Amino acid sequence: MPETVLDRFLRYVQCDTRSDDGSTSCPSTPGQMIFQRDLVAELRAIGLSDADVDANGYVMATVPATTKRTSVPAIGFIAHVDTSPEMPGAGVKPIVHARYDGRDLALPDDPSAILRLADFPALADQTGHDIVTASGTTLLGADDKAGVAEIVTAAEYLMSHREIPHGVIRLAFTPDEEIGRGANHFDVAKFGCLCAYTLDGGGRGELESESFSADLMTITFHGFNTHPGYAKGTMINAIKIAADFIHRLPPDQLSPESTEGHEGFVHPYVQQSAVDRTVVKLIVRDFETAGLAEKERLVAALARDAAARFAGSRVDIAVDEQYRNMRAVLDRHPDVVAHAREAISRCGLPVVSRSIRGGTDGSRLSFMGLPTPNLFAGEHNFHSRLEWVSRQDMEKAVDVIVALCRVWEERAAL
Ligand SMILES: [Zn+2]
Repeated sequence: MPETVLDRFLRYVQCDTRSDDGSTSCPSTPGQMIFQRDLVAELRAIGLSDADVDANGYVMATVPATTKRTSVPAIGFIAHVDTSPEMPGAGVKPIVHARYDGRDLALPDDPSAILRLADFPALADQTGHDIVTASGTTLLGADDKAGVAEIVTAAEYLMSHREIPHGVIRLAFTPDEEIGRGANHFDVAKFGCLCAYTLDGGGRGELESESFSADLMTITFHGFNTHPGYAKGTMINAIKIAADFIHRLPPDQLSPESTEGHEGFVHPYVQQSAVDRTVVKLIVRDFETAGLAEKERLVAALARDAAARFAGSRVDIAVDEQYRNMRAVLDRHPDVVAHAREAISRCGLPVVSRSIRGGTDGSRLSFMGLPTPNLFAGEHNFHSRLEWVSRQDMEKAVDVIVALCRVWEERAAL
């Protein structure tokens, strides 16, 4: 019997693969490399004979084509193997709560860790399903081991059902997504696909083909420091200039805490303070590049206004691009999203289109030449000790992967 997606998932989450922002190596933690070596052995055992891990901890493998058509493009499926460094990820004890009926799910290792329907309305969709949680003190790691388990299970299914016509299917499992480095060493040319899909999303039927565009602004206020006892008329306190600047930011709009949906924001998140020099870093987010520029002009004007109040001070403003809305790329390849919609519908699910208020590896991969929207993997409560996933959602994601391989084969002939 092939291993089920649930059993595979329960096995994966017990490996500690947390990434570490403080590390400069790739992958950032040895646990990820251990996981990847085991994964390669597993992929080879199910018949993916070219499965391999490179020096940076990226695993790639191929499900060979079954179609006779030569026009079917290679497509890829991608998941990340690391889990968030924000939460404990060692010693994960997964628990399967069978046949959910709306009851509170109490997690045994912490009396305050209770998954309640009232707090998480997404559970209303899960009646009769088997819900997997951790035990209350760690994350679960469904983000993104659900995606890993789904892709491997779909690959095993395709390898044992060679009668299903499909083109070349490539798989990639990446390290360090949670610390923003997942695309850094991704070899798009070696992957060799027309497009790919990350399996790293939420509830059944979700399809994310739009992400934020993102810039980083670094604003440096220069003051003048001198002995405070003898500073009259000479000291210029850069901390006070920065405070004046922060105070000028709109209090009830354009911020993460006051926006949702398609609204962008500016967000000061780090300040390095000294009298002589104070640096404020802000992230700027918008779905439109023009919206980014508009917000940056506003922030720059407020910074200059603040500096102008302090005679003799100076301000430097730098803007660095972080990533761009993947929609700009996906709009040029409409089949990529259209085929995903078709596959989700064929599996009997309504398509839920969402915009990601953040970036994914897919945002960067899309601009590296690999159009990559994000499909649901069934993850909920990301980066939380109340993280959960349902067995039935994972099974649906496996079905969607298989259906998508078929759709690309069928449509290639049209
Ligand atoms: Zn993820």
